[in-house]
Amino acid sequence: MKKKIIYEGKAKKIFSSAKPNELIQHFKDDATAFNNKKKSIIPGKGIINNFISELLMTKLSELNIPNHFIKRINMREQIIYKLDIIPIEVVIRNVSSGSIVKRLGIDEGKVLSKPLVEFFYKKDELDDPLISDEHILNFGWATEHELEEIISLSLRINDFLSGYFMSINVRLIDFKLEFGRMWKNDELIIMLADEISPDNCRLWDTNTNKKLDKDRFRHNLGDEDVGYKEIAFRLGVLSEKEFKKVLKNEI
Ligand code: ADP
Ligand code: UDP
Repeated sequence: MKKKIIYEGKAKKIFSSAKPNELIQHFKDDATAFNNKKKSIIPGKGIINNFISELLMTKLSELNIPNHFIKRINMREQIIYKLDIIPIEVVIRNVSSGSIVKRLGIDEGKVLSKPLVEFFYKKDELDDPLISDEHILNFGWATEHELEEIISLSLRINDFLSGYFMSINVRLIDFKLEFGRMWKNDELIIMLADEISPDNCRLWDTNTNKKLDKDRFRHNLGDEDVGYKEIAFRLGVLSEKEFKKVLKNEI
């Protein structure tokens, strides 16, 4: 069966697959920031994010945290469950950085007294505005039960990821998650969707606080590819040699 493109986003393409309840998620090298106002290509980023997301989603499955990942099929693509995406971006923060610093005028790098969960309405035309749980319930984007599940899963994911990154000398500052609904055994369940990678996490080296994520690109910190590679090497998903080989064949 020929795969058909269903959607092209800023960082990924979504294709149909042989099974109606599954999709193919294709990771591009395109980097965008500030809602598409800054654009570039970071060669190999898509490959790295495909591998990192595979690893982290697989670990989450082992902890019984439902997520859409089924199987990686090549360097840039993975099969995922097709979900009805909830139009909310869930941001979990452990340390202040990014939009919260500007919004509330607090210093960057402040360790928060407990993880902070924020919601943004997933709407590019409106620059993904900050919303509260009341908006989510009032406009019917999720039910009360779904929202409780989303918050509980997000905090479990944060606990796991914080520890996992700590083991490779990386601080998980904040990250963004997306969730969707899927029918399973006559029950509608909430599943983690999208990706977990340096594109949607802030990751700082534990010893130096060097930024190893998309902020290098967002704020012109130089060596924009270095964070992606460093995280991939430390997680052991791709060796430097393997990565160079892949890149040579591809470009
Ligand atoms: P954007 O849409 O913000 O530009 P991407 O380029 O990452 O983002 O595109 C991926 C799109 O696929 C996102 O809109 C995301 O919500 C959607 N998506 C992620 N996982 C799934 C899934 N399991 N089922 C359906 N859609 C998904
Ligand atoms: N994030 C994301 N996609 C978005 C907005 C934010 O993946 O559309 C991630 C971002 O990489 C960071 C976290 O969510 O890890 C918090 O982002 P923030 O609200 O601080 O916004 P930013 O300053 O990144 O625009």
